Amino acid sequence: MAMSTENEHPVKAFGWAARDTTGHLSPFRFSRRATGENDVTFKVLYCGICHSDLHNIKNEWGITSYPVVPGHEIVGMVTEVGTKVTKFKVGDKVGVGCMVGSCRSCANCKEDLENYCPKMILTYGAKYYDGTITHGGYSDIMVSDEHFVIKIPDNLPLDGSAPLLCAGITVYSPLKYYGLDKAGMHLGVVGLGGLGHMAVKFAKAMGLKVTVISTSPNKKKEATNHLGADAFLVSRNTEEMELAMGTMDGIIDTVSAVHALLPLIGLMKTNGKLVMVGAPEKPLELLAFPLLMGRKMVGGSGIGGIKETQEMIDFAAKYNIVADIELIPMDYVNTAMERLSKADVKYRFVIDVANSLKPF
Ligand SMILES: [Zn+2]
Ligand SMILES: [Zn+2]
Repeated sequence: MAMSTENEHPVKAFGWAARDTTGHLSPFRFSRRATGENDVTFKVLYCGICHSDLHNIKNEWGITSYPVVPGHEIVGMVTEVGTKVTKFKVGDKVGVGCMVGSCRSCANCKEDLENYCPKMILTYGAKYYDGTITHGGYSDIMVSDEHFVIKIPDNLPLDGSAPLLCAGITVYSPLKYYGLDKAGMHLGVVGLGGLGHMAVKFAKAMGLKVTVISTSPNKKKEATNHLGADAFLVSRNTEEMELAMGTMDGIIDTVSAVHALLPLIGLMKTNGKLVMVGAPEKPLELLAFPLLMGRKMVGGSGIGGIKETQEMIDFAAKYNIVADIELIPMDYVNTAMERLSKADVKYRFVIDVANSLKPF
């Protein structure tokens, strides 16, 4: 008989889990493995709520195995390290993002692109090497191979830096890879949510001119006054859009609902790059002709490798970049999920895990 999640490992753990497709989260006892020789164990202090947590707890992608303890924007303080660990010591501030394993030997892994490894292991809801299911950061403790642990620089506040581990790297990586990181370039950012607001902050720190493109005109003040965007376009305002045609070097598109690509392609200069980081469930319409006329491209990008995630965090520390967050107690998490489904948050919920997760 298979052991229960509560007894399969020697270390007692507790958190909040969803048990079925209602996605309702409630207290949950489980267990974590003992610190292995290459492992870092840490006390979870904060965990961001990513939109994919919401999809996952409701099994909207059809891959969820219940019970699921979500959370892949996890930060905390190291409590124990394995005998072979070299990068971390007890007391260090650390984080774990979307993955806790990869094959470490394929072409992707060798190029520090563990995020594209076919055997990449997600931080929660995935089968680990020992056959047990991984559990995320809506919980009291976390254990991970040190390779997948990120060092959080001292000057970064831990609560605001949690979302960097997914939202941050998701937009930082394409800016670097697609060469949209040169000062003076003009970047469009479509959608001003968790991902979009991080894209604005990183691009501004890199010295770019940033234009936010949104369906809601009421986000203009926030985008320009608060986040420091240079301009704001209402995507439904054809006059405004016409005026901005052919002005952008690239666009980071964070929208995960079906939307029109044609107007975005039109906004770009020759050689412009439209990069998708949101994932609409249905196919988008893509006409080839507008791409030919201007040698434009549409690409994609998914999170980032560990080396680049560390680079992103260090960059964030240098420029004091953190997410704008609403810090919430664990028992608010179901309400937070409901609000998140209505995009009612500026811009990321972060759970104050250590101060609000009560043992039971
Ligand atoms: Zn995420
Ligand atoms: Zn690999």
